[in-house]
Amino acid sequence: MPDLIYKSKLYVTVVANQIHICNKKCKGPAPSEQTCKKGFSRPYSKTTHYKEGNSQYIYKCLIKVDSWVVSYHPVIFLRWDAYMNTQYITD
Ligand SMILES: [Zn+2]
Repeated sequence: MPDLIYKSKLYVTVVANQIHICNKKCKGPAPSEQTCKKGFSRPYSKTTHYKEGNSQYIYKCLIKVDSWVVSYHPVIFLRWDAYMNTQYITD
């Protein structure tokens, strides 16, 4: 999640568009310790990094609310002003 004070426009836009809520499409919510079909809630991670053998990056996720945010590119997202899912893919 962006900082509410220093990046308030981004914060408000993320809250309005990028919070995953489990439903029939993702067959969630998943049982405790598991993720829904869309991978939520995401695991905690101190950094955004590549994990060997995985085609997707692991995104920085420090607090519980971060684990429900769908990834986005801040500059594009603010201009787009709607839901997006942007990810680094390795193959
Ligand atoms: Zn879900």
